[in-house]
Amino acid sequence: MQSKISIEFVPQRPEKCRSLPPKGTPLGFGRYFSDHMLRAAFSESQGWHSAVLEASGSLGLVPQSHCLHYGQSIFEGLKAYRGNDGHIGIFRLDQSARRFSNSARRLAMEPLPEDFYKRAMAALTLADRRWIPDGEGEALYLRPLMVSTDPCVCVRPADEFLFCAVASPSGALFSESLEPVAILVEDEDVRAVRGGLGEAKTSANYAHSFRAHRRAEQLGYAQVLWLDAAEHRFAEEVGTMNIFFLFGDELATPDLDGTILPGITRDSVLTLARDWGMKVSERRISIDEIIDGALSGRLTEVFGTGTAAIVSPVGKLAYKGRDYAISGGRRGSLTLELYKRISAIQRGEAEDKFGWVTRIDQLSMEELLRG
Ligand SMILES: *Cc1c(COP(=O)(O)O)cnc(C)c1O
Repeated sequence: MQSKISIEFVPQRPEKCRSLPPKGTPLGFGRYFSDHMLRAAFSESQGWHSAVLEASGSLGLVPQSHCLHYGQSIFEGLKAYRGNDGHIGIFRLDQSARRFSNSARRLAMEPLPEDFYKRAMAALTLADRRWIPDGEGEALYLRPLMVSTDPCVCVRPADEFLFCAVASPSGALFSESLEPVAILVEDEDVRAVRGGLGEAKTSANYAHSFRAHRRAEQLGYAQVLWLDAAEHRFAEEVGTMNIFFLFGDELATPDLDGTILPGITRDSVLTLARDWGMKVSERRISIDEIIDGALSGRLTEVFGTGTAAIVSPVGKLAYKGRDYAISGGRRGSLTLELYKRISAIQRGEAEDKFGWVTRIDQLSMEELLRG
């Protein structure tokens, strides 16, 4: 429809800008938010319009808004990193833009033009560049989302949408001293079914995971390992991360069969491991193979992958009332190597041979806004 969507920039008033968390404060995840947000609206008659980068605040949805009832709601998660020499880079921006479009299509929503998405993320990051932390493992986490906004409770696919993005300085979730976590294998609830929403990044996948998450937490486990819905036998994801297993010299992860979220960190890990000459497979991995591997010692590392932590080591799995330690609960060396390489690429400290980082520090704000 429209080719260019320009973004109006209404900066927050200087006296209203928030103060940064004091140096040394653990930033955690989703605890602090920057000064601005970006929003745009879609309607059939106007296409994507009213894009504005403005003071972070409320969205003012009416109670009859479609998304509040029927959950047409998708999101993304990506990070901007500060490096040496003024480097500011967004990691795998293209993939995030594409996945956001794919998620929109799956949920019968209006895809956002990918060029606009990328300009929007760059403009928000540059407007709030003072919020990009520079400590080890720290980054500015960008959280774009889209919801249906038709002001009616009628049950049909919506045709009005709101796009919005906020930014949050986030801390290191992985550290070299980090203890691997204990995971409960969930054999009752399931995450996704074939033909369902498993491969879309949508709120629904989270809403129905919380019951199992809470049960696991109450039993002292950090997260759940999801099994497939048909047979309750094959590993799918861990919590809201993709999962990897190192069996001997084979690095294995569940294949993308429609029930698995195509993680961008998953893809980065696969690409690096292949580049390092490792034997890598995307295949079905049964819980029996996992338990046998843990008992025999053939399974030496298990880790989750996701933008928030990059990699998250698993030291123990509980299944049907029994605990199984992975390599005595110690964190493996491949997990650490992957973390180090990916974070070095993100900061511009290692060669970006796959073109994963979009440098934005040299971009002109005016051009980003104008489109
Ligand atoms: C976002 C997400 C992941 C991880 O994807 P990344 O692109 O690596 O951050 C994995 N599983 C689910 C369900 C997710 O929503």
